[in-house]
Amino acid sequence: MSTESASTSADVVPGAGERAFPTHARAVVIGGGIVGCSVAYHLTTRGWRDVVLLERRHLTSGTTWHAAGLVTQLRATYNMSMLAKYSAELFPELERLTGLGTGFRQTGSILVATTEERWTEVRRQISMARVCGFEVQPIGPREAAEMWPLLDPSGIVGAAFLPGDGVANPTDVTQALAAAARLGGARIFEHTAVTGVLRSGGKVTGVATERGDVASDVVVNCTGMWARELGARSGVTVPLHAAEHFYLITEPVPGLPRDLPVLRSPDDTAYVREDAGKLMVGFFEPGGKPWATHGIPDDAAFVTLPEDWDHIAPYLAMAARRVPILAEIGIRTFFNGPESFTPDDRYILGEAPGLRGYFVAAGFNSVGFQSGGGAGRALADWVVDGHPPIGLWEVDIRRFMPFQGNRRYLHDRTTETLGLLYDMHWPFRQVETARGVRRSPFHDRLAARGACFGELAGWERANWYAPAGVTPGYEYSYGRQNWFAHSAAEHRAVREEVGLFDQTSFGKILVQGRDAERVLNRICTADVAVEPGRIIYTQWLSERGGVEADVTVTRLDERSFLVVTTGTSLVRDLDWLERQIPDGAHAIATDVTAGFAVLSLMGPRSRELLASLTDADLSNAAFPFGTSREIDLGYALVRASRITYVGELGWELYIPTDVATHVYDTIVAAGEAVGLRHAGYHALNSLRIEKAYRHWGHDVTDEDSLLEAGLGFTAAWDKPGGFIGREALLRQRDGGINRRLTVFVLDDPEPLCYHNEPIWRDGELVGRIASGMFGHTIGRSVGLGYVHRAGGSVTVDWLADGCYEIEVAGERFDAAASFRAPYDPTNARVRQ
Ligand SMILES: Cc1cc2nc3c(=O)[nH]c(=O)nc-3n(C[C@H](O)[C@H](O)[C@H](O)COP(=O)(O)OP(=O)(O)OC[C@H]3O[C@@H](n4cnc5c(N)ncnc54)[C@H](O)[C@@H]3O)c2cc1C
Repeated sequence: MSTESASTSADVVPGAGERAFPTHARAVVIGGGIVGCSVAYHLTTRGWRDVVLLERRHLTSGTTWHAAGLVTQLRATYNMSMLAKYSAELFPELERLTGLGTGFRQTGSILVATTEERWTEVRRQISMARVCGFEVQPIGPREAAEMWPLLDPSGIVGAAFLPGDGVANPTDVTQALAAAARLGGARIFEHTAVTGVLRSGGKVTGVATERGDVASDVVVNCTGMWARELGARSGVTVPLHAAEHFYLITEPVPGLPRDLPVLRSPDDTAYVREDAGKLMVGFFEPGGKPWATHGIPDDAAFVTLPEDWDHIAPYLAMAARRVPILAEIGIRTFFNGPESFTPDDRYILGEAPGLRGYFVAAGFNSVGFQSGGGAGRALADWVVDGHPPIGLWEVDIRRFMPFQGNRRYLHDRTTETLGLLYDMHWPFRQVETARGVRRSPFHDRLAARGACFGELAGWERANWYAPAGVTPGYEYSYGRQNWFAHSAAEHRAVREEVGLFDQTSFGKILVQGRDAERVLNRICTADVAVEPGRIIYTQWLSERGGVEADVTVTRLDERSFLVVTTGTSLVRDLDWLERQIPDGAHAIATDVTAGFAVLSLMGPRSRELLASLTDADLSNAAFPFGTSREIDLGYALVRASRITYVGELGWELYIPTDVATHVYDTIVAAGEAVGLRHAGYHALNSLRIEKAYRHWGHDVTDEDSLLEAGLGFTAAWDKPGGFIGREALLRQRDGGINRRLTVFVLDDPEPLCYHNEPIWRDGELVGRIASGMFGHTIGRSVGLGYVHRAGGSVTVDWLADGCYEIEVAGERFDAAASFRAPYDPTNARVRQ
């Protein structure tokens, strides 16, 4: 490694206000890469002039200086694409604002597909690009080669041209952001390392630096690959790990057009762009190389890592098949620099759970340059407004579990994540590294029954079961995958007889204390001041009426409640809950997830099966829907909750971990007589979508109001003390809503919906699918998505007046639209 091997950053010339080192600031931004400078600039655009940015060495000296400068806006999801889109709009604007060049050139980009499956993926991306409002053209191999004369079109199945994409100079953009931030009042100090973040009583109070402390209520950790270690010093989990990342620059190519579009050929793991008359070719190869696993060296700045020809040569050969000149021309520069990667290839934004005022913007998985503008603005808005400007759950720091800061876990996962960027983004794709971290007590038993596991928040969860003779592994495709028929059989078993789900990964929070009822009732939309033994389905709202959480609350006794949420939402929901507990209130929230395994028995014969194992009266009269109680089961005591996420008669069993396998064995032994079948999460998803049961994080987020989500029925409008968000909802109720979650059922049984498919109404784009799945009972794809109505309310009549189509991979399919579930809309089966 060479450090300080290049200095592309000029020292900041201190302005008058910068000479004296501050003792106080409204916000302190740590790190002077693209992201820190973007956050600082955007804070000033929100009127926060008293912003201090501290950089340990020079601006850009971390990862930013060596970014390849690609500005491609189409990302995996709508909101991520919108943030990248903003960056592309910002760069030229910065030039106007500061007079400094950013090197931004709108060359366009070409994304090529060399297999039919990749072409399907690209066509799906083109569909999403339309929802984002991007200009995008599907083009054939010949057109691609006309736009990119050095391209060999043979083997190309299809391509997408995005004229709005381009390239820019990362150092210049960052310096322009810094200049713009200074124009807005921010003060920037280089050669100032933050040695720690100061805190008191669960809140940030400032930072300690080599030059003294700076008091502040807001600190933003934008320290790139250093962010994990800096976070850990304050007990904040920032799961990221550095990896080596490569590009090559060729000798000059005579006659190379300066406005050559960026070429991306993910099947060849490579991108190619023009760079000062030469070609730059970069790689997202499989088998990435984690770097500095024991900590980033303190003196690291402008780092270049050693060449590794053996590693890159096979990928260069692949790229040369597409761009043959790469095999002939000399390589002038072999560049290897570190970049941070996260366990799920998505970056990390937001306020850290458990430490107010500690914000993070880091872990950019090699898209930090093009995302930095939008991500910096989003984070600044989050700081100023106290909430994200759009639904940012996919990058929210609260999605991570504490164990994900584990160094070995991150090291092993990082070997996979770099390559995933250009690998196929298959539906249901599972990570392969760092698996097996969290297992339910039934894990080995489920494996013996053919479970094919997927991973969620570290949990190994049975997604489907392979019958005897079938290998429990994925064969991915955009069409029907190898598990489709097996999962369909599980689905049918639940609808017709009884299925067993392992739902141990549920997040479980025990809320106890004299004030537990009062605290929860203020947070929940529904009334939880109920008799012990009642289960309440409810949401937690922000003051704006956005859905912060979607949970069930079971009253256990006078002073205790069990809150159940999805596995990924645990940290977030616990944090939200703790924030709402007023000082001095006697209410304590405890994560009891690991204490209970959960088995769900679902289906019309679940009562018969359970009744054979317990003395409890399970009749409708004695054990109605929405109630919960402890029952004996085998030799054990378990909590049985009559509730469902699949739309059938059934019970969720909360089983103390020590008796979990005993209970499982007892159920399975008795289950044979009633046709019990193990069922996985793919079947669960198919069952729940037919019932239009929402999934928080997909169908419902903090961006969506309770009314827009169609969940207004949970609101106890008149309960004493009201609930957080009630007033915003009342205003919305009176004014009408112009977007509404709607259920779509495709007429054609063939196409499969996953997410982000455009929704057309009478030929006009009105929304996108939030989550989609094939419904095996109704035999068609079902999608949940928000429809927008410009200048009016979305009402039942308006919905009924339109003709709807869902666009899948560029083709439009007729669909029926409704606010009601396509399966059992009156809930008759649930209450039988
Ligand atoms: C080879 C390569 C090519 C790439 N190409 C592209 C591309 O084409 N497009 C794209 O979008 N992205 C690209 N990237 C990724 C992009 O460069 C990064 O995602 C982005 O630069 C990250 O910016 P950052 O501000 O988060 O981190 P950094 O640039 O690393 O900034 C963090 C800063 O924090 C400072 N710091 C650390 N600790 C402290 C402390 N305690 N006190 C004060 N300061 C501290 C560091 O000195 C550093 O300057 C590429 C990356 C690599 C390696």
